[in-house]
Amino acid sequence: MKNYSVIIIGGGPAGATVGQYLKEKNIDCLIIEKRGSYRDKVCAGGIPLGIINLLPDNLKNFEKMEYDILSIDYGGKLSNRVKLNKPFLYGVERTKFDHHLRKGLNVHYNEKFIDFNNEKNNISVHTDKTTYTAKFLVGADGVGSRVSILSSLARKKRFILGEEKEVFQKNITEPNTVKLFLRYNYLGYGWMLPKQNHYSAGSGALQKYFLNSSKGTVEKFDKRKGTTKIYPISLWGGEESLTSGRIALAGEAGNLVDPFTAAGIYPAMLSAKLLTGVIGKALKNGKSNLQEYNKLVIDELGEEFNCALLLSKMFYPFLPLIKNVIVNRSTIQQAMENISSGYISYKTFYRKVQRTRKIPVKIAYFLVQKFAN
Ligand SMILES: Cc1cc2nc3c(=O)[nH]c(=O)nc-3n(C[C@H](O)[C@H](O)[C@H](O)COP(=O)(O)OP(=O)(O)OC[C@H]3O[C@@H](n4cnc5c(N)ncnc54)[C@H](O)[C@@H]3O)c2cc1C
Repeated sequence: MKNYSVIIIGGGPAGATVGQYLKEKNIDCLIIEKRGSYRDKVCAGGIPLGIINLLPDNLKNFEKMEYDILSIDYGGKLSNRVKLNKPFLYGVERTKFDHHLRKGLNVHYNEKFIDFNNEKNNISVHTDKTTYTAKFLVGADGVGSRVSILSSLARKKRFILGEEKEVFQKNITEPNTVKLFLRYNYLGYGWMLPKQNHYSAGSGALQKYFLNSSKGTVEKFDKRKGTTKIYPISLWGGEESLTSGRIALAGEAGNLVDPFTAAGIYPAMLSAKLLTGVIGKALKNGKSNLQEYNKLVIDELGEEFNCALLLSKMFYPFLPLIKNVIVNRSTIQQAMENISSGYISYKTFYRKVQRTRKIPVKIAYFLVQKFAN
């Protein structure tokens, strides 16, 4: 039976980042990935500029698009286009990006994690091929995480469903423009992100609204041919436990997904980086738990995500009421500038909303405070 210090389930952004930072610390680890080395992940691939700070030095150069224009279409009735003099968002092709993140790591592809057993001084990890032992097990196995189910961690699942189609085109027009589509579906949004040789067009909404009315939204604003794929996303639903004994969850396995935009790549990599620091210390001091990790995640993401959750409860249902305040040049520009500083600060927006004098926003804020918590 092969023994490792750390076994990581899943080779997405969370698992690969854990692997890279453990490698940097000379900690032996194995990634178990049930898919092949080029996994086709349904994703728009929009990532904030702050991702650079989360990447180890040898991985900072990666293939990406840079967007400096945001165009917003509100149900075909209202639109706005704002250009910044610097990029505010990157765009990646997930298959290539994830492959890049796994560079130089020990990954067993096409091997599926099945189960684990807690032993006295380690943990046995069973896959569909064999059994390993490790000091620590990291669940970075994404939405529907088997590690989270088996360990009863991160139980507050708040699912949305996203649909995405890739439209291949030789000449990409407006390669630096992100398009957002509001009011084409209920309690959700649509997007179009240009990539090297295709557009990623898609939309998402909370599960019950997606099934009732949002499925097929993408066809309303982009009728070009492409295969549409549907995939769930597990959003942050509030603070909860991400560790138990020798087990910890990183990324979407722990519902660490921005509840406003449903972006999960940045929080996946941030949580992964935080976790490796705690694992490093635990191995050095012979500790058998990773409790400190929970606090670090809450300190870094908790308040931001709680504000994002409240803002999402105001923004999506009350959009018809507040649209004139939101879909205007000055608010869009402020949002883009905020995002371009690295990662969107929801705390800043939330404070602005609390102090606003705009009557529609005051009404929405009051109703959310009274009824949505
Ligand atoms: C339509 C759509 C659009 C999106 N757009 C964006 C976006 O623009 N920006 C953004 O930041 N986020 C976006 N997301 C969310 C983002 O894709 C995820 O949150 C992100 O991939 C989470 O990273 P992760 O490493 O935690 O999990 P994942 O990337 O899901 O990786 C988990 C890995 O674990 C493997 N795995 C699972 N179970 C097992 C098992 N039993 N054994 C072995 N391996 C296993 C999987 O094969 C997978 O490779 C989007 C999601 C969807 C569905």
